[in-house]
Amino acid sequence: MLPRYADIIIDISHEAIDRPFQYRIPDELQEKIQIGSMVKIPFGRGNHLRTGYVIGFSNQTEYQPDRIKKIAELCDRSVPVEGRLLALAAWIRENYGSTMINAIRMVMPVKKTIRQLTDQMVVLTDQMDAEQLAQVREQYQKKHAQAKLRLLQALEEVPERYLSMDIVRQRLNISSVTLKAMQQEKVIAVISKERYRTAGIYDYKEGFQITLNKEQQIVVDEITHDMEQGHQQTYLLHGITGSGKTEVYVNIVKKTVKMGKQAIVLIPEIALTYQTVRYFRNYFGDRVTILNSRLSDGEKYDQFMRAKNGDVDVVIGPRSALFAPFQNLGIIIIDEEHESSYKSDYPPKYHARETAVKRAELEHASVLLGSATPSVESYHRALNGTYRLLELHERAGSGQLAKTSIVDLRKELKAGNRSIISRELADDIADRLARRQQVMLFINKRGYNSFVSCRSCGEALKCPHCDVSLTRHGNNQMICHYCGFQMPQPKVCPSCHSGLIGGYGTGTQKVEEEVQRLFPQARILRMDKDTTTAKNAHEQILEKFGNGEADILVGTQMIVKGHDFANVTLVGIILADLTLFQNDYRAGERTFDLITQAAGRAGRGEQPGKVVIQTYKPEHYAIKAAAEQDYSYFYKEEEAYRGLMKYPPEWNMMVVLMVSSDEAFLDQMAEDICDYIRSCSVDDRNMKIIGPSAPVIAKIRDIYRRVVYIKNYRYNELVVLKDRIEQYISEKKEVQDLSLQFDFNPLNMY
Ligand code: ADP
Ligand code: ZN
Ligand code: ZN
Repeated sequence: MLPRYADIIIDISHEAIDRPFQYRIPDELQEKIQIGSMVKIPFGRGNHLRTGYVIGFSNQTEYQPDRIKKIAELCDRSVPVEGRLLALAAWIRENYGSTMINAIRMVMPVKKTIRQLTDQMVVLTDQMDAEQLAQVREQYQKKHAQAKLRLLQALEEVPERYLSMDIVRQRLNISSVTLKAMQQEKVIAVISKERYRTAGIYDYKEGFQITLNKEQQIVVDEITHDMEQGHQQTYLLHGITGSGKTEVYVNIVKKTVKMGKQAIVLIPEIALTYQTVRYFRNYFGDRVTILNSRLSDGEKYDQFMRAKNGDVDVVIGPRSALFAPFQNLGIIIIDEEHESSYKSDYPPKYHARETAVKRAELEHASVLLGSATPSVESYHRALNGTYRLLELHERAGSGQLAKTSIVDLRKELKAGNRSIISRELADDIADRLARRQQVMLFINKRGYNSFVSCRSCGEALKCPHCDVSLTRHGNNQMICHYCGFQMPQPKVCPSCHSGLIGGYGTGTQKVEEEVQRLFPQARILRMDKDTTTAKNAHEQILEKFGNGEADILVGTQMIVKGHDFANVTLVGIILADLTLFQNDYRAGERTFDLITQAAGRAGRGEQPGKVVIQTYKPEHYAIKAAAEQDYSYFYKEEEAYRGLMKYPPEWNMMVVLMVSSDEAFLDQMAEDICDYIRSCSVDDRNMKIIGPSAPVIAKIRDIYRRVVYIKNYRYNELVVLKDRIEQYISEKKEVQDLSLQFDFNPLNMY
């Protein structure tokens, strides 16, 4: 029996209607409608037509059947959401806190109804066999119908037996009278055929081939062997910079394609698309495409359809490419899996890594996470057996790991050098300039996170309760963004009583000026947010530097990732502490990542490389471990710290962000919610509640914000708590002007 009703999620994001609504399916749509279809339905007062998505069918209803409204129309030019992706959306909604419609929007890279491009094609009809065609040809010859003969012959010569209308009209010079006549004779037909928009043109060389080294081969064999056996698993590939992880990915994808399956390759940011796509195109040619937000809606739609129809085997893109609608997904590869860009910064705040693991589970696919500096979460899971750990210890191509040297800036100061370039770094730069080798100088200056530290002992001002750095606010107040602790900025260092205490105001621009002052003859390029606003500016700077049009490249973390410049033999990290003293528990991890990645840029070619790390805190484990390129030392220290402070991954953390335009009301609600959370907690050894407090940005466009941090050993208990908080709020009648956002295991502090 055909279903009578469809369960539909309305395309309006509001908690109050975050449930399916039943609609009657009109007879004429019975055959066409499916799970995931986009429809128009009358909704609300006035019955305005709204968009909705079908998430289920039923024959029963709790309502009076004649009062159930009818679906108005089916948007048949839209891409239906795959059933499996709907299941994933439901999981996202449940695990990250979101309305269903927002979760559906998330898994649907193409939201608009897009016009498909079509080409007119002339085809030989299949109504004639070879014998009949021979007769037709004879007739044409008799009548000297040259044009007809020309077209018939051309069509018989191409294997597909069709030609585009353009070619027929322009190259073969066939008139529309002739076409009509041949259509009437049932020799040819004119049809419309889909044409895909291309998503950027990338050249590639065919027949490109690299022989895997032993380590790489072992990794490829392990994973592909499992896949062939039907074992699905998540792997963490810990491979040092330059160990040839991309080559490993390519070889695994080759096998995946051979098995008739498809692959999704996630990269941390759009800027890295070009090099990755080029690498993959060498092997897979046109069977690779990209999906990202820089594509037009039409381009995006077409790449989506190509994936859906099996016209490509590999989709490459940032986080959102995870939702490519492949029919037989074999593997999801996440390159640089530690990158924070894999987490969505707007709700639902899903993490692409966890979501990939879930999608793979739903579709019996594998997941491969790759990084030179795995996230603490992933390594933790690899050690406890949730993921399988695979390693690459050696550089694959040419080049050795760079030598590192730590410069203690406290000693520089004592020696009378007030420049931000230490004597050692200056000597090294001079040396490279003389030898016509290139230098990269890296400084991670972020706009708003300013901390205060002591130039004498190297300590940053910290919160006595949270062990994270305090943040300087405008009125000289130092504030902890976790718990709200406040103190005025001190005049002397609380640790060593030195007066050399202050905030830092150094950034890329200052470094550029200073280096130019020290080396007037050097050609310097700068790459940061300010110099890359123009379209392609990013690529242009890198290309110039790659061509040797500059000696020194100064930049933010933009210059750190992925780039391969053979002539760079020196990398300077101007102030490693800038990331170290950010006000959150991931500061150590971020510092280690950045230094390691930056170090990976040196010595990629024939010449050995060197990395100079400048710091006021040379004894910090994150800096020591990065200098020694010792991930396991870093991990051990970091895990101990996280465990002690009850931070992820040992514990889990949920942030509840509360937003309202009425500040007094918001403060009251924040207190109420905290009381409620406390009343839910039976055993406070397993649950810690911090707050409510004001976040860094406590007000945006007159909307006030408050946060509560909740730490719990178990993730699931936090999910349950989230549901209870939502329930609690929805039962409060007076709550009009309050909205909640949830963030699990946040990557940035609020
Ligand atoms: P990673 O991503 O691990 O930092 P890449 O994939 O960028 O490393 O590889 C670094 C370089 O080594 C690339 O130029 C790559 O072509 C090269 N390479 C990879 N595997 C091999 C190999 N087996 N033999 C020679 N060169 C290789
Ligand atoms: Zn001090
Ligand atoms: Zn604190």
